[in-house]
Amino acid sequence: MTRPRIVIGNWKMNPLTPAAATTLATAVAREAGRVVRVGVAPPALFIPVVAEVLRETRVGIYAQDVSAEEKGAFTGQIAATMLTSYVNGTLVGHSEARRYLGDDDERVAKKLIQVLRAGLEAVLCIGEREDEFDAGATEDVLAAQLGAPLHALSESDRDGRMTERFVIAYEPVWAIGTGRPATGEHATAATKTIRRVLEEDGGIDGDAIPILYGGSVTASGAIEFAKAEGIDGALVGGASLKAEEFAGIVRAFA
Ligand code: PEP
Repeated sequence: MTRPRIVIGNWKMNPLTPAAATTLATAVAREAGRVVRVGVAPPALFIPVVAEVLRETRVGIYAQDVSAEEKGAFTGQIAATMLTSYVNGTLVGHSEARRYLGDDDERVAKKLIQVLRAGLEAVLCIGEREDEFDAGATEDVLAAQLGAPLHALSESDRDGRMTERFVIAYEPVWAIGTGRPATGEHATAATKTIRRVLEEDGGIDGDAIPILYGGSVTASGAIEFAKAEGIDGALVGGASLKAEEFAGIVRAFA
């Protein structure tokens, strides 16, 4: 099974002006290359301006988050349907949304279905915290985090087409923004767990689902993950804010 190689830059709450977002998007498009699918996830407010900059390029656009609800009285939220005019897909369940915005597995599952129903690609982020890693509980945590999303998928994905737009990002929380990436070996083990759970608990062909690694990926460290069995790309935070560094990561996966 040949899966696509995908590298997505999650800009988080950066940069702070539309002009700076335009400059960064322009530089990413210049460096992007042709082999790997490249995407950026700008802050929601800057999505339209970045979409305009990237209109004629091969760089995809992602949202960082989305509402779990379809529409209505949900002040401050953005519906998946609204995103469809601008983006290819969105992250759901990023550890920072879980930590700072209270996303739990049930809400993440609802977001996943909203995104897939809207026809967008969903990048479901999962990963263990440091105390869970230390306790050797990575497998259990990944299985638990997949539980509600897989249940929701089994209820909603009647013809099996939704999973064609389903991507998983394995992001150990202890590696995000810490400068301390996981090893390729650990990431590979996580992909095996994830694909086994997809098959056993979700009836989904795990080999068909791209799995990205995220957590302190840099241009110099990316090759370890590019070579790691089962890893199909990267979700990049800090290093995606420097176009050249990000391009180095893209090249590692080419
Ligand atoms: C992320 O936020 O998804 C991430 C992986 O961040 P960083 O690359 O900075 O660790």
